[in-house]
Amino acid sequence: MAYLLPPLASMVHAYLRPIKLTNKGICRAGYGELFDSIEDPNEGLKGACQGGHMALVSALIARGASRWHRGLDSACRGGHADIVTVMIEHCSTNELTHGLYGACRGGHQALVNEIISRGCNNFEWGLEGACRGGQLELARAMISRGATRYDWGLMAACTGGHIELAQLMISHGANLWNSGLDRACQRKRLKLVQMMIDHGATRCYNCDKSAAGHFT
Ligand SMILES: [Zn+2]
Repeated sequence: MAYLLPPLASMVHAYLRPIKLTNKGICRAGYGELFDSIEDPNEGLKGACQGGHMALVSALIARGASRWHRGLDSACRGGHADIVTVMIEHCSTNELTHGLYGACRGGHQALVNEIISRGCNNFEWGLEGACRGGQLELARAMISRGATRYDWGLMAACTGGHIELAQLMISHGANLWNSGLDRACQRKRLKLVQMMIDHGATRCYNCDKSAAGHFT
């Protein structure tokens, strides 16, 4: 896998988390000098929205990026209200669901409120986003608004490696243990692998091992 040697200003960030040399990775890092190398404006848009780079977002739109709902998801996840405003203009009420998912995943309460105030009421997606991002309070908020898809939440929590969220979903009746094990195994979330096995997972779809086989 290729990595980009970062400019000096981004050295610390890049040292902690190497930037993948992809359309999305370049744009998330805000490396405008590499703009001409962007082949897929829509992939770039996701990264620029998540990284909060408005000028890059505008440039990508001028290059034809138009997958607004994905941009909205990423801008909400990154907590960038100015870019969220731009994306929302182009999204249908139905597509705001992606924003609710992203805002819950990123833990941005103000953006969650904003998306809901514009008519989005798909709280199931909000719950899934909150579980994926480890956002306990937002998960509780989505449940109090009526979300009940706890098994999806459990799988998202297993993917994200968030034990408290998994426990919350289980306390509400989630019990797809094998699916949870599959997600936790894929992402090597060992504590959650153990938790799913303790609750009764018998088989892992990911590695095709029996439950016990994960620790032998
Ligand atoms: Zn496995």
